[in-house]
Amino acid sequence: MFVGHTGVIQPSGFLSLPCGRYPEASVVDAYQRHPIFLALREPDRLKGKCGRCPFRRVCGGSRARAYAMTGDMLAEEPDCTYEPPAEARANQTPMPP
Ligand code: SF4
Repeated sequence: MFVGHTGVIQPSGFLSLPCGRYPEASVVDAYQRHPIFLALREPDRLKGKCGRCPFRRVCGGSRARAYAMTGDMLAEEPDCTYEPPAEARANQTPMPP
């Protein structure tokens, strides 16, 4: 969570998606209930290769970079070189090689 000098509440300084403004809005409520924060804590909502990646629960990629490059904070990480298997997503995170 990032709170700017104007009070704007965002997921991070690099992810400029307003989720309220402190002190009118509670930072605790924003973190716990705002749809943007909720979406960021659901790795199964990730798209593209991040969405099918077996490491999405421990990595998830940079949401700020995905948003900057595509306008969609849930898009696949544009700078990741890993290519996850093409098959449907696995439920368990494998051990790294
Ligand atoms: S950034 Fe790469 S390693 Fe991380 S979840 Fe996305 S595809 Fe997987």
